[in-house]
Amino acid sequence: MSRVSVCFWFDVEDYITPESDDALKSLLDIFIQRGATGTWKIVGEKYRALRRRERGDVLDLLQRQDIGYHTDNHSRHPVISEYVAGLGWKAGAEEFDRRERPGLEELRREFGHISCYGQPGGAWSPQAFDVLTRWGVPMYLDEGHHVGLEQQPFWFQNTFTAFNLQQNCVRADVSLADKASALEAARADLYAAVEGLEGKGGFVSIYYHPCEFSTSKFWDGVNFARGKNPPPSEWRSSPLLAPEEARARLDVFAGLLDMALEHPGVDVVDATELLGRYKGIGPQGPVAVRELIEAAGRMGGGITYARSAVGAVSPAEMLTGVLGGLERWADAGSLPEAVEVSAPLGPIETGAQPRGGSMSVGEAAGAARSALAYLRAEGHMPAAVKAGSASLAPEDLFAASAAALKAVQGGAGSEASISFAPMRLALEDNIAKDGPGMWGWVPFPEGFSARDLLELTRLQAWTLKPAELQ
Ligand SMILES: [Zn+2]
Repeated sequence: MSRVSVCFWFDVEDYITPESDDALKSLLDIFIQRGATGTWKIVGEKYRALRRRERGDVLDLLQRQDIGYHTDNHSRHPVISEYVAGLGWKAGAEEFDRRERPGLEELRREFGHISCYGQPGGAWSPQAFDVLTRWGVPMYLDEGHHVGLEQQPFWFQNTFTAFNLQQNCVRADVSLADKASALEAARADLYAAVEGLEGKGGFVSIYYHPCEFSTSKFWDGVNFARGKNPPPSEWRSSPLLAPEEARARLDVFAGLLDMALEHPGVDVVDATELLGRYKGIGPQGPVAVRELIEAAGRMGGGITYARSAVGAVSPAEMLTGVLGGLERWADAGSLPEAVEVSAPLGPIETGAQPRGGSMSVGEAAGAARSALAYLRAEGHMPAAVKAGSASLAPEDLFAASAAALKAVQGGAGSEASISFAPMRLALEDNIAKDGPGMWGWVPFPEGFSARDLLELTRLQAWTLKPAELQ
């Protein structure tokens, strides 16, 4: 499919300022008048506020749209990164599940299918992706810099992820005084993004917050800035826009939506429809051993995803194929034509560092067998694997097993010696480095940092691969 999908999505979150409900209704009206659907990522507390404020009119309109989830309390402290920091992988995932699942369940009771999840502001947690799988929420939809792949949708931790779209994320700055110029600038950006995807197809992301159409300041900056956490009795509404300014902003938005609807190369889709335009995680069947060996050979020193005849494979998937090939060879005495791959998570803690080395094919096959046993039991890659007296880093395991598989393909026996140079996981470059910009979101306390969350994210670069259009 070579058409370009444009998804409009909204973070529906201001549960404090009642007038933001009217802005939400106005935006919904714009979609419904045009027979279009967007994706509305709703905060649990916002849903409860709509019910308390008896906004059945808004809930009815939302029923006709695509609904996502945007955490239970968003910016109220502790925000996600605050409560997950320092917990490590498993406890962090449990805490995310415990705190965020109730809001999801409320939305499911009201709306049924929940198409996606996205983080509040900079409140990143890599564990969220794994929990989405447990929840049956099929997509991570947001915009940020923590992870990305080629400015198009990708698979990360086996979750379809639309994130870090960069120039394929388009917005009209509705707050500018010169509304006509704001819309014209967005037209140029939208057309440039669509042109860049012409022929191959792809995705353009457009997002807003309904509160941008009702208040001059974000509700969470007013109430929860820099770690402040007042009780609900002290929450304050945000300053309201003048009615004519609110109207003008809605007009700019409607102009942008019309522009996308009228563009001949574009389909305006919601998140559920977007997901349907991509193949499942795949690969669609066993991967040829020959392809695995060739792909590893092309990588040089940098481990990355590979494309096979049955679809893209992440480094983690590729590793399971290579290990599985060696295991089959050790069991049966001959290599299979093709192997099934599985999709484990990357390691969940930092382990050994890659060093390269040498060993016998038989030792590599033994390491493959113990790594596979671990993968099958735990669902994630080991941080280190024993091979004889050595402790192999995941990168060494990848390099050694690929070298052994190639040697076996060439007729080597288990006594044959292989050597392998240290490799690095090149896809780690797709994970943001820690720095002052990473934790600058307004609700974070001054000086807040959660470096461990970026380290855990880096380990999951093993699971990265592009999403492929149908
Ligand atoms: Zn938000």
